[in-house]
Amino acid sequence: MDADCSMEASALNHQTLVLNRGWVAISTTTVREALSMLFTGNARAIRPETFESHAFDSWADLAVEEGEPCVRTVSLSIRVPEVVVLTHYGGMPRQVASFSRRNLFLRDKNTCQYCGKKPGTKELTIDHVLPRSRGGLSTWTNCVLACVPCNRRKANRLPAEAHMQLAKEPKCPAWTPILEVPVIRIRQSWKHFVSEKYWTLPLEA
Ligand SMILES: [Zn+2]
Repeated sequence: MDADCSMEASALNHQTLVLNRGWVAISTTTVREALSMLFTGNARAIRPETFESHAFDSWADLAVEEGEPCVRTVSLSIRVPEVVVLTHYGGMPRQVASFSRRNLFLRDKNTCQYCGKKPGTKELTIDHVLPRSRGGLSTWTNCVLACVPCNRRKANRLPAEAHMQLAKEPKCPAWTPILEVPVIRIRQSWKHFVSEKYWTLPLEA
């Protein structure tokens, strides 16, 4: 038994970066799904070191180097495809970051939007700009991070009524769900394909 290839079961559930035909990162998928796209010819695997793209057969022929994650079948050891490029699809799916507590902390960079302090995530609360008691909704444009003292001070009022000012108008963030991959699952090789600026938000989480 080759110890380097002992992770195959979990390796299938790791993430693979998906590029469209024009080599623009558009999503992530599981290694399992990426291998299936390779096998059916819907995608080619990219070697991050050389940027060569491979169809399934030539990918399967690549030697698996020592310590490298791989997937074993009865007759083959296959390198885990960390990045695949789609054969046909050249578009950009329209994607919007989902409104969630985690994403709100990312958007507001763990910073109170009233006083600018960064007291730590446990000392931050979600403030509804138009209070819920007055019909305010839990949406990107109505929610901001506020430290406990600021939230207490604002209470059931609008910022203007409390003589408080927002650092900026709350908006839906401009990043896409591709960036919602947990930081620990982001592979070094992806940095060749996704601009550094997009990584800064998750890395601050
Ligand atoms: Zn504050």
